[in-house]
Amino acid sequence: MPLNSPIITLPDGSRREFDQPVTVLGVAEDIGPGLAKATLAGRVDGNLVDASHLLENDAEIAIITSKDEEALELLRHDAAHVMAQAVQELYPGTQVTIGPAIEDGFYYDFARDEAFTPDDLKKIEQRMHEIVKRDIPIVREVWDRDEAKKTFADIGEEYTVEIIEDIIPEGEEVSVYRQGDWFDVCRGPHLPSTGKLGKGFRLMKVAGAYWRGDSNNEMLQRIYGTAWPDKKQLNAYLHRLEEAEKRDHRKIGKQLGLFHTQEEAPGMVFWHDKGWSIYLTVENYIRNKIRQHGYQEINTPQVVDRSLWEKSGHWDKFGDMMFTTHSENRDYAVKPMNCPCHIQVYNQGLKSYRDLPLRLAEFGSCHRNEPSGTLHGLMRVRNFVQDDAHIFCTEDQLQDEVSAFIDLVYEVYRDFGFTEVMVALSTRPEKRVGDDAAWDKAEKALEVALDNKGLDWKLQPGEGAFYGPKIEFVLKDCIGRQWQCGTMQVDFSMPGRLDAHYIAEDGSKQVPVMLHRAILGSLERFIGILIEEHEGKFPLWLAPVHAVIMNITDNQAEFSKNVQQSLAEQGFKAELDLRNEKIGFKIREHTLQRVPYMLVIGDRELETNTVAVRTRSGEDLGSMPVEALITRLSDEIASRGHAVLEE
Ligand code: ZN
Repeated sequence: MPLNSPIITLPDGSRREFDQPVTVLGVAEDIGPGLAKATLAGRVDGNLVDASHLLENDAEIAIITSKDEEALELLRHDAAHVMAQAVQELYPGTQVTIGPAIEDGFYYDFARDEAFTPDDLKKIEQRMHEIVKRDIPIVREVWDRDEAKKTFADIGEEYTVEIIEDIIPEGEEVSVYRQGDWFDVCRGPHLPSTGKLGKGFRLMKVAGAYWRGDSNNEMLQRIYGTAWPDKKQLNAYLHRLEEAEKRDHRKIGKQLGLFHTQEEAPGMVFWHDKGWSIYLTVENYIRNKIRQHGYQEINTPQVVDRSLWEKSGHWDKFGDMMFTTHSENRDYAVKPMNCPCHIQVYNQGLKSYRDLPLRLAEFGSCHRNEPSGTLHGLMRVRNFVQDDAHIFCTEDQLQDEVSAFIDLVYEVYRDFGFTEVMVALSTRPEKRVGDDAAWDKAEKALEVALDNKGLDWKLQPGEGAFYGPKIEFVLKDCIGRQWQCGTMQVDFSMPGRLDAHYIAEDGSKQVPVMLHRAILGSLERFIGILIEEHEGKFPLWLAPVHAVIMNITDNQAEFSKNVQQSLAEQGFKAELDLRNEKIGFKIREHTLQRVPYMLVIGDRELETNTVAVRTRSGEDLGSMPVEALITRLSDEIASRGHAVLEE
């Protein structure tokens, strides 16, 4: 086949032959003018490239338009460049350093003596809109390394010179992206022109950032922005941010007195009475649920000898994440996961095929030495409790176990009020243990189980762990955020490493299949999600206080205590507020505390042996006898989120 006469294969399998090298944009033009106009970039043999990228050889290509997910990252990277240009136009003498696309947006780190003010951000944003209007072509240039160093040194970009010296080996060329007079070292790719950025961006904030993340280096100014394909999506994002801020579990946790964290124990939670009450409700709910599903609950040590972690492979692979300690000349690690301990329980006594499947569950408290910069309230902690379990089974039992677990996960999520769940199956990666036959069988079992449930699942080829395929369950919360919580992971490796066996029906010694699985993931994080989902207005069954009883005058104090007593005897968490305050004040305060039911007792209630019932949403349910209230509360708790009585 002659070179320079490339045959281009498109994603639908169709082919086009060109009699000379052609750009990605050229291919799009060949397909049609509509597509050419929409072309932002290309994917060539798996790599993202500019629309102007020249195809000299046969290649598989895809045209990237704004409909493709990849376009968003390019757009955000463009936004970073446009921002840097705006900054340097407005504030000559400011140096650029690095400016990547990040989740939801982008940033650029600048070296400038004066601090950027909120007013500056407005000016920069305005200038960015002007640069977009200019619709300047964004062009890739390839420079000689020494020439690049000299050019950047001449214009006073010392950081860029350092970047070139550091990341580009001598003798190699430097990729530079230019838009008009402005240019920077950049690997690319980029969109064809600044006009493609559109109007869907906003600068968010300035923060300090050390050059190269090293606190011994100079402090730079990092400007963060967000960028979206259009203004509508930008506004939707800003709205989500606002909602998320309103719902921030750290803020609500403080307001409601649920928990706190402090510097002496980074990433570890101090649970207060009310938060712990929610925690225990969640834990007990799961405890009952898994017992009904045939699990045994166990508990294993917190600190385990190094030799076990070496045997399991964690000491090598996971060492940085483990907290270690020693005593009497022995090294120990605080467990970062429960699996090796569960195998120790499994290994007690000879197992036969009749013992399988064996489902061992633990509310396992794990410690992982997450970098302090990543810690975030309850969402990212160093000490967390997993609703963990390991299922030991035969290959033939795999599909039934997966199937039963899917049912369990959906039951639990529904009870917590989450109805939108996304499921993904990750299959064999290139580097893996176990023979292909075992992978075939396991992947098939997971696939069939998912299909049999009629689930609309997503395939993630190659994303499985090296030791087995996995299913992930992702919740969507009420403001559209996604939280990966549940997992089921097949493990071909660990049972063998830690000598787990069973005697098969034919008398042979076999290694069981091990399934790691969790429904909520970490209880801490899940409670964080619940706080944000409900904005602290927990459904009654999860609420740390079910009702608060308030008297109007001292005259009803005795009766109020009796009502509390009756409720407590029935297992309800009822508080008493006998303070000498106006009833309106008390109601406001407990409404702010999101107490589901407020029971007001005045002389009329005292005389008729009733309570006047208000909900936290302000609904007046009138007076009712305590027994009627108890029935109402019991029904509401039993129905969990399914029959929502109030917002
Ligand atoms: Zn595990």
